[in-house]
Amino acid sequence: MKVNNTLVVSVGQAGNQIASSFWRTLCLEHGIDPTTAQCKSGAAPKGNWSAFFSKLGDGSSASYVPRSVMVDLEPSVINQIKATTGSLFNPANLITRMEGAGGNFAVGYMGAGREVLPEAMARLDYEISKCDHVGGIIVLHAIGGGSGSGFGSLLIEEIKEKYPEHPILSCAILPSPQVSSVVTEPYNTVFALSTLRRFADACLIFDNEALFNVAFRRWGIESPSVDDLNLLITEALAGLTAPMRFSGFLTVEISLRELLTNLVPQPSLHFLMCTFAPLTPPHQSKFEEMGIEEMIESMFRNESMFAACSPMEGRFLSTAVLYRGVMEDKPQADAALASIRGRLPLTYWIPTAFKIGYVEQPGITHRRSVVLVANNTEVSRVFERICSNFDKLWQRKAFANWYLNEGMSEEQITAMRASAQDLIQSYRVAEETGVMNRGQEIQRRTSTPALAPEPEPTPQPQYTPAPVSRPIP
Ligand code: GDP
Repeated sequence: MKVNNTLVVSVGQAGNQIASSFWRTLCLEHGIDPTTAQCKSGAAPKGNWSAFFSKLGDGSSASYVPRSVMVDLEPSVINQIKATTGSLFNPANLITRMEGAGGNFAVGYMGAGREVLPEAMARLDYEISKCDHVGGIIVLHAIGGGSGSGFGSLLIEEIKEKYPEHPILSCAILPSPQVSSVVTEPYNTVFALSTLRRFADACLIFDNEALFNVAFRRWGIESPSVDDLNLLITEALAGLTAPMRFSGFLTVEISLRELLTNLVPQPSLHFLMCTFAPLTPPHQSKFEEMGIEEMIESMFRNESMFAACSPMEGRFLSTAVLYRGVMEDKPQADAALASIRGRLPLTYWIPTAFKIGYVEQPGITHRRSVVLVANNTEVSRVFERICSNFDKLWQRKAFANWYLNEGMSEEQITAMRASAQDLIQSYRVAEETGVMNRGQEIQRRTSTPALAPEPEPTPQPQYTPAPVSRPIP
């Protein structure tokens, strides 16, 4: 059986912290020890492990090494990963430099990033050479800092240039003042978006603003830390990749390529958002289970989405619903989804864009779970928020010298801001053209019951910004 091999490249502090949590979860799901890369008493790992791991050796000494390359322009996070993961990762694939990017896109994209690029590409080339069939490349990075944003962009451009046939999914963390108060984050984010628009095949956004609120409201954490947000991201990424790693109902696997083919109706509309159900706090998941109908209903609530916007007010261009552990409840799941579909604001020119996946193997925290990945026009609201903060700075050229001194020009910066505006505009156009004629739309709104209301909200968070991860340049 042909298995698509997926590679994961993580960049910068956030990217590598998330990668560390993600790989630990994958190891546990496949029965691989996350510190030795081996299985208990020489047993074989569960599922289609070769989708994400390569095998070294045979018999009881065989080890299963993540297809991972980790890069950071400063050493602390990767050193920490080395110290806690024993012999899980190939040490040659853990690449660091000393200086850091100082929270500056230009340093990652044009300065220190150029210097580390050959080594990072060489390790990626090596990993690609060991694959039977590359299914795609996932890049984990935050785009509000310097390394993930600047070097992450440079790397994606280079990968696309060298391997145009391999789909690239950028999983991009978007900044929020609730989590970090680095003032130049809107600049870095807008600059990185310009690359993600042109070179990534798809970009799954994880908006810290929304994740913070989910952790506060749903998990009841008074002052969520980045580790809490990373748990949410890990749950979503484990669910998203589950159909690539385990067989399911009717399908052997859903490859990254197949998933993106379904989720990206036009190359210019490739920014995705996601959520996960049940959003039960991890420590309660053993004791409380959500019914399948409730899980499906909860995913489509605006407040559940890992992007600070209101998807039910926009248009769903395409959607993937990926179940785990619900095989015996499949008829109920199908019925619940069919019932909710009638109430969703779909796009009339893509009326059937629903990719559904079933994986028997449950995740490690929940017996039954679902991930929703959506291409929804409301993503433009998230970019509007970032661009509005960008404009406040750029109108006064505040902190502009940090970028100009690194070699960026004012024209370049203005062009990148215009590129973000084009992105917003393409989603606005998709939203407008997606509406059926007015009569049909009014009928949809009046003839179908609204989603059940959100449970009583807990009080709004007290904003206590977490420690700044990088100094203000
Ligand atoms: P880089 O190493 O220069 O790319 O900088 P970071 O990865 O620290 O990126 C800064 C942005 O990422 C800020 O918006 C931070 O709030 C956010 N951030 C930093 N670490 C984490 C993390 O572990 N998880 C999440 N969700 N966000 C993070």
